[in-house]
Amino acid sequence: MDPYRLPRTVVPSRYDIRLEPDLTTLTFSGVETIAVTIAEPVSEILMNAVEIAVDEAVVTDGRGREQRATVTLDEGAERCRLALAEPLATGAGRLRIVFRGTLNDKLRGFYRSVYKDPSGVSRTMAATQFEATDARRAFPCWDEPAFKAVFAVTLAIDPALTAVSNTRIASDTREGGRRVLRFADSIVMSTYLVAFVVGELEHTVPTPVGPTPVSIWCVPGKKRLAAFGQEIAVASLRYFEDYYGLPYPGDKLDLLAIPDFAAGAMENLGAITFRETALLVDEQAASHAELQRVADVVAHENAHMWFGDLVTMSWWNGIWLNEAFATFMEMLAVDAWKPEWQRWVAFGVSRAAALSVDGLHSTRPIEFPVRAPREADAMFDVLTYEKGASVLRMLEQYLGPEVFRTGVREYLTRHRFANADTVDLWAALGRASQQPIPAVMDGWIFAPGYPVVSVAVEGRELVLRQQRFTYLTEPLRWFGAAPAAATPPARWQVPVQLRVSAEGRESVERVLLTEPEVRRPLPAGFESVVANEGGHGFYRVRYDEGLRERLLGRLASLGAIERFNLVNDAWAVTAAGLMPIAQYLDLTARFRDERDKNVWSVLLGSLHALNRIIAPADRPRLEALVRDRTAPALAALGVTPREGEDELTRQLRGDLIRALGTLGNDHAVQARAAELYAGHEGGAAPVDPNVLPALIATLAHAGDEGRYHEFFERFRTATTPQEEQRYLYALTMFPQPLLVEQTLARTVNGEIRTQDAPFVARSMLMLVHAREQAWAFVKKQWDTMDRLYPKHGLRRMAEGVIGLVTPELEADVHRFFQERKIDLGGKTLEQYLEQLRVAVALREREGAALSAYLARF
Ligand SMILES: [Zn+2]
Repeated sequence: MDPYRLPRTVVPSRYDIRLEPDLTTLTFSGVETIAVTIAEPVSEILMNAVEIAVDEAVVTDGRGREQRATVTLDEGAERCRLALAEPLATGAGRLRIVFRGTLNDKLRGFYRSVYKDPSGVSRTMAATQFEATDARRAFPCWDEPAFKAVFAVTLAIDPALTAVSNTRIASDTREGGRRVLRFADSIVMSTYLVAFVVGELEHTVPTPVGPTPVSIWCVPGKKRLAAFGQEIAVASLRYFEDYYGLPYPGDKLDLLAIPDFAAGAMENLGAITFRETALLVDEQAASHAELQRVADVVAHENAHMWFGDLVTMSWWNGIWLNEAFATFMEMLAVDAWKPEWQRWVAFGVSRAAALSVDGLHSTRPIEFPVRAPREADAMFDVLTYEKGASVLRMLEQYLGPEVFRTGVREYLTRHRFANADTVDLWAALGRASQQPIPAVMDGWIFAPGYPVVSVAVEGRELVLRQQRFTYLTEPLRWFGAAPAAATPPARWQVPVQLRVSAEGRESVERVLLTEPEVRRPLPAGFESVVANEGGHGFYRVRYDEGLRERLLGRLASLGAIERFNLVNDAWAVTAAGLMPIAQYLDLTARFRDERDKNVWSVLLGSLHALNRIIAPADRPRLEALVRDRTAPALAALGVTPREGEDELTRQLRGDLIRALGTLGNDHAVQARAAELYAGHEGGAAPVDPNVLPALIATLAHAGDEGRYHEFFERFRTATTPQEEQRYLYALTMFPQPLLVEQTLARTVNGEIRTQDAPFVARSMLMLVHAREQAWAFVKKQWDTMDRLYPKHGLRRMAEGVIGLVTPELEADVHRFFQERKIDLGGKTLEQYLEQLRVAVALREREGAALSAYLARF
């Protein structure tokens, strides 16, 4: 018997759960009645439970006989065993379980969140976070996605409070001193989607979408920040009902902002929970990037109401499809809502992040076998979300959006209220498209990595070749290395879309590259070729020098995503040692006229990476190079917005000011930033919301102790989640060692919420001025951080080690993790170490050439 799967001898169909949380004692008591089908005459029932005390369990069997069960809890296996004196008669049965638990501070299961009310008084609320396997911390249950059931929740609460669960309130009565809220029956769904939130909550006036009222909930005083979230919630709900061709499966939709929340958001059916930054925003005071984040997360969670909630993966190996699909749908919905945001171009940044991790030897296939649910924890990463969404987009574009949607609709209709696997989606898409989907997709889903497609002109032919892209020629040697398994040479079915210019005309050609090499005759009057036309492919392109030069000579004819890919792929092949650094830096000089913020983000990202590897003596020259590349674009845009300018241009202005003010250490920009900020704060001259975050970052970079304390106060007293984040991360940017030390101390002393602290520490590991102090601090405080932070906190924080790009620090990182025998789950640590190696190797290989290049500045 699989120790990680519950037997199907007794299967639940309905839970009636009554919970009584006490926010003063931070405990809860509960009683549940579970309707079950007894399939075999067993004398024990296995369920999941952890950190719960069971006071009583009574089982009624198929013949109506009642037996009191002897309950034993196995905390390690997270199970409870109900042992019975007599075997149970098969048929319809019932369990009644009385239990108790605590409202923990680990942001999982049934937990407490503490916040300050508008008058500064500390308040407590309770919320839930069950995915993947923490429903068992709130009530004993069959805590696996395939055990779907109806949930009928009743909450008995302090009458001064209110509560929200997955469904509408069916009755609101008083019993003794308690307010008793009984919620309507849910649809048949998985345990990880159950939710309840209890506290002093306020909500917006619901907007009806068909029969579904949509509201935003938050702690008192924040309702004024809910309008934007509500707008995208309504727009995306409408969009998905249309796209999926199925009505929303719940009876209402509440979106709740929780002050302490470990992830970004959670797709509980009808009661979606969010961290505040992902839902609440002041539309007038937020930057484009901050608004896009809210729109993205809300659309993503709404997409899950069908894909994930209505149709659920059978087991945790399928989580990638759940998340990849929601990420893909989030783009579609936001793109439909605000086409002017060019969401698919911005998705280039996400795709690039996935290509970067997937170019490691230590990457993994998107889907892999999962036995213990814990193994699935390592699946919540860039490969699941961003690579997964990228390959779905590639498939959608290859099949055509209409055909793809038809397949999705059929899949959802066929499997609604049930569970399904990846193969079921491929089958549905195969029926819709009449194409062999697994043949095309398996290489992308079940094999690690992706190809680089080399494009060259040889004689009178255009030659396309594919091979796996990796940064390092060999796998990393590290202390945890398993003996190298021979991997077969990888080959993909690559949907390549070529745009060929010849004799002044352009034509698009689709090639499914299935072989290692394809040759085609060059057309007469050949001028140039773009190999990843439209930029949807999940692969890199390496042009020969002649072809790259032709494209650089006609950048204006390329789409923004194509220019993005041109830079991103060039930077990747440079990091992989396939292109000299001088050639790459020359390439960056061709983009001074660039006006797309995403293309700039990849250019600036590469300059940040160089900043982490250069010798300190070269830093002033790198700053001069940054100014040389960036200043012309800002000069052309001007520091203040112009009439009729679009949102993306405004955001680009902010990005350029930030780059010049920090990485470029531009004193003129820093002085101007101080003026603008003073004018804004004084109320005399409000600054564009896209520029304000850049000013704050710039002032921190150039700031002193006085400014630090000013910004810390602003963080403490911020009136929007976005403002709080801006000032929080600004604290990391002050260069003075004493201030670095203060900020580090705040990651463990309770002044920064545990939902944010790991990310603050991660940022500091990545920042050149702070990284050595941060690393020393992290090593010393590792155990404390492990105790304080939510479950995945350390893993997210440890990612910062990829910024420790010196041979000495790299060696020390290896030493620390080896001595402490630290396992971050899956291949996480190995991936961080390999990314660090790629950066140190670039430094070792190109350091002298980089120094020589910078000598001109
Ligand atoms: Zn999701």
